[in-house]
Amino acid sequence: MKKVWDEDAIRKELARLDGITGLNGAELPIRFTDAQCVIGCYHLNNGERFSFSRIYFMDPEWAEESALDTIRHEYAHYMDYAIYGNVGHGWTWKKCCSVVAACPVRLYNSWKNDYYNKKQTEKEQKLLGMHDYKAGDYIIHPKYGKGMITTIAGVEIMKTIQVEFETAGVRKLSLAWVSDNCIKL
Ligand SMILES: [Zn+2]
Repeated sequence: MKKVWDEDAIRKELARLDGITGLNGAELPIRFTDAQCVIGCYHLNNGERFSFSRIYFMDPEWAEESALDTIRHEYAHYMDYAIYGNVGHGWTWKKCCSVVAACPVRLYNSWKNDYYNKKQTEKEQKLLGMHDYKAGDYIIHPKYGKGMITTIAGVEIMKTIQVEFETAGVRKLSLAWVSDNCIKL
């Protein structure tokens, strides 16, 4: 029989992860939503909590591994914020993923996000992560290596930065992309 992912079942997995991290994620409120495009979310605004879409979690056809990975993905966000004070999918989040054995890719968010890019929660998370960047900061780009931010232009999600790379010249990049894919030094 397929597992039913009710609140108790989710909390049980959170408690197991707490056993690994020594944190208290299982004590946070859990809400269910009817969201089609956001399968899970760790919320910071208006009180810390997790939310999960019942469209997936109540679907008996949905793979148990996907449910577990979603829970661990969101737990890693909780852990990232608790330990490093970070939001988004940066290197500290990836570090947390490796601790809780979550797949360190944006998984469900990546393909959904292209279509549902306006989803508030994701946008808020992204914007929060993007506030950290200023001219003079160094980043490590997966392809171009180390570089220094020289200018930031644009607003919100449309922000672009100019980066002077040590070996790859000057490049203009989307800050949202950088925030997700580069390491900030
Ligand atoms: Zn995420």
